[in-house]
Amino acid sequence: MSALLSLRRGACPSLPEPMQTGDGLLARLQPLAPLTLDQLAGLAWLAAELGNGILEVTARGKLQLRGLTAATAPGLAEAVAALGIDVPQGFPVEVSALAGRDPAERFDPRPLAQAISERAAPLVPHLAPKASVVVDGGGRFRLGGLKADIAVSAGERGLSLALAGTPLGEVTLERAAALVIALLQRLAARGPAARMAELVAAEGMEALRAAFGLAAPSAVPEEGAEPVGLHPLSDGSVALGIGLGFGQIRAAALDELVAAARRAGVAHAEPAAGRALLLVGLTPAAAPALRDVAAGLGLLADPKDPRRRVYACAGQPACASARLDTHELAATLVPLLDGRDLHVSGCPKGCAHPAKAALTIVGLDEGAGLVVEGTPRDVPARIVPAAQLRAMLQKDLA
Ligand code: SF4
Repeated sequence: MSALLSLRRGACPSLPEPMQTGDGLLARLQPLAPLTLDQLAGLAWLAAELGNGILEVTARGKLQLRGLTAATAPGLAEAVAALGIDVPQGFPVEVSALAGRDPAERFDPRPLAQAISERAAPLVPHLAPKASVVVDGGGRFRLGGLKADIAVSAGERGLSLALAGTPLGEVTLERAAALVIALLQRLAARGPAARMAELVAAEGMEALRAAFGLAAPSAVPEEGAEPVGLHPLSDGSVALGIGLGFGQIRAAALDELVAAARRAGVAHAEPAAGRALLLVGLTPAAAPALRDVAAGLGLLADPKDPRRRVYACAGQPACASARLDTHELAATLVPLLDGRDLHVSGCPKGCAHPAKAALTIVGLDEGAGLVVEGTPRDVPARIVPAAQLRAMLQKDLA
């Protein structure tokens, strides 16, 4: 097996280690800084030249290129670096879009995230590939809805710490980095596959509070605002959030969007959690024309667009585990949703949406499972042959 191909269970695709999927190799990157429009155009070009022309923004706000080959993938990391796009060198710590520039945030999360990233770097070989730390400055795009092994979030009185989604305690900014590193060390000591939920189950939250001298917190992490739409910034400009259907945009459409963004005076772009792209720094007067261009390209420019409530993973044929063509099925059902949210998952893993949805359709070996108010991992209320699914749902949802 090539050292390039990451086939370990639970591994994460990265620039130097893309992951094999049904439509080729998948590479993920988390830019450290906002992207210039030249860099965004450069990524569109790389997606077309080295991949299958699709660029994705994930639910966590990371960028992905799909359809790379064994011949093209080795050049990607260098090509991204040549565009001047920096990616984390230490342990990757997630912060929200507009971090450090969001007038609503209570503190700039970037210095704390950088300190954790650097100090946790030696632990990377001892931590699970998906182990995650989030630092949320309390701005409008809160990250409280994201699953994270450790989340540090701005609260009313200080910072609150949560482990695997459960509040642990409140901590000062000065102590936060050391505490996160101590928790990561404790996690690493359990072995390179351990996740925080297992540590909490094994040691107990009260024992962990006692070990670190923390009192139970008063608040749980908050979820963020919808990124699609207009967001005023403190300098009088705005950020325009554009949603990507199923988190994807084609290189040609991205090129057109970048050209329109240049005309509108956009300063830079940022991927945002919730499968969106923020175009930042334009005047409020220039925003409507840019929004119209995005809508004309089939992008989701209206936060009320029903497609914002539809979650679908890559599905067939892009993912080898998929038992459904998720995008095709989800697109068919959008007109019938009437405000309900829908999750179409190619298999029970549920990559696109870990939370509950009003209706979840999950691909199984024995057919399509239907889960009401649940997740793809729940026991389906019904299993129907995939060939009959569309006709049945069109009747049931109408
Ligand atoms: S949920 Fe299953 S089918 Fe869908 S992308 Fe994830 S692993 Fe593939």
